[in-house]
Amino acid sequence: MRPEAVIKNNKNDSIKNIIISAAEIKEKIRETARLLDERYRGKPLLLVSILKGSFIFLADLCREMTIPCEIGFMRVSSYYDGTSSSGNVNILMDLDCDISNYHVVIAEDIIDTGRTLSEVIKLLKSRSPLSLEVVTLLDKPEKRLIDLKADISLFTIPDLFVVGYGLDCGEKYRDLPYIAEYPDE
Ligand code: 5GP
Ligand code: MG
Repeated sequence: MRPEAVIKNNKNDSIKNIIISAAEIKEKIRETARLLDERYRGKPLLLVSILKGSFIFLADLCREMTIPCEIGFMRVSSYYDGTSSSGNVNILMDLDCDISNYHVVIAEDIIDTGRTLSEVIKLLKSRSPLSLEVVTLLDKPEKRLIDLKADISLFTIPDLFVVGYGLDCGEKYRDLPYIAEYPDE
């Protein structure tokens, strides 16, 4: 474990079970960046981060990529402080540009029921981007309620509530450099 990770872990001592290390994340992000480099070389590319959960993922991913891209942000909410899906999806902040001249890649932190992303996809498709793909850091296929598959998924995880690397529980733990299980009790 990196020294920073030890410090962070001491700061959050209820978090014990690390399921994906910072090194594993880094390695997968490198592979994904190479894939996106190949796919979008020479094309106008807009990476869309779904806030807040994917801010670290997108920041690391775009810096590993070697091709130029632009960055957009959207904020949607589906979880309200707790650890289960509320079923409601609200667009809290929208993109500030016309996407019709861009190949759009949505970067999501995690796909659980699929509700959030299916709403975002519907909305962005209605704005006629040149193409639209989804890259998700984590995929929890066991919980899917809507038939939806990411074009690129870095890690598939079991039905656990996880925190770290951008993902929160009640706004805490986003700063952890790894993905950890949030203890149930
Ligand atoms: P969905 O709409 O697919 O059920 O939920 C997607 C959103 O719920 C994610 O973008 C994320 O914000 C939140 N979410 C789903 N599963 C988890 C989890 O295990 N941990 C955390 N922190 N958030 C989750
Ligand atoms: Mg999210």
